[in-house]
Amino acid sequence: MRWEWLHQEDFDKAIEISKGVCVMPMGCCEMHGEHLPVGQDYLTAEYVAREASKLEPVCLFPTFRFGDVQGLRMWKGSVILSVELEQALLTELCSEIARNGFKKIILLNGHGGNIPLLGNFVRSTMKEKKDYVVVARNEYCWGVSELVQELDAGADFPLLTKEDKEYVRDFVYNKKTWGHAGIEETSVMCKIAPELVNFDRMHVRDGLSRHKSDYLAEVGFGLTTRFWLKDYPDSYAGHHPEKANARIGETILRRRIETQAEACRRLKQDDRVLEWNDEYNKMW
Ligand SMILES: [Zn+2]
Repeated sequence: MRWEWLHQEDFDKAIEISKGVCVMPMGCCEMHGEHLPVGQDYLTAEYVAREASKLEPVCLFPTFRFGDVQGLRMWKGSVILSVELEQALLTELCSEIARNGFKKIILLNGHGGNIPLLGNFVRSTMKEKKDYVVVARNEYCWGVSELVQELDAGADFPLLTKEDKEYVRDFVYNKKTWGHAGIEETSVMCKIAPELVNFDRMHVRDGLSRHKSDYLAEVGFGLTTRFWLKDYPDSYAGHHPEKANARIGETILRRRIETQAEACRRLKQDDRVLEWNDEYNKMW
């Protein structure tokens, strides 16, 4: 069901099995501290999309690797496209997916900086009549805080050791941070591709906030991330996740994969979104 692995004669069958649902994973290329790969976000989105499609078969479009990373010019590895080009690429790729017969498109996002881009893009699809719908969701919908909440409510996570549970609780109870390249992303990569995690490079950078832009955030300007780099100049936001590991990563990923599979299932069963789209087209 991977687009690039299908043969031309397979597409009709793929459309039937997927009920017209096609998923495009999205991320970006940007520095994730010294210890994680620049492709962290798209590698994670791709992994979640792929594993979820094994639970609920849908077509998998090649990953959109170049998300919105304006500002990270000072670090090697960033691939910075203009927002206009990204919008144009999304527009044309989605219309090509639809032209091939998949009328329900899910953009599965793994990068926080893509949220404004995706909001704008999905809204922009209403500018013209379309015979398809695009929806977007974040793959990182469940993480350390949700894990600790459920642990405290008595849930059992069989992969985790007693020490792992204490470790994640320490992050939440003591209000430690893990926004970017922190415990979640590091644990997740320990599961997906442990050879790409450089624990020995973690301490080269400081992941704690310099709090330079707090006074702007206090009055609501935190909505934009224009000054994020003043607080986190090393493109790393988090207490050093020294004990991050694949058990924590797999626990987090399992839930994200199940949730993505459920999202696919729901959209496969649903024809209302296409009816609403027709109704919208008739209102023009
Ligand atoms: Zn990331």
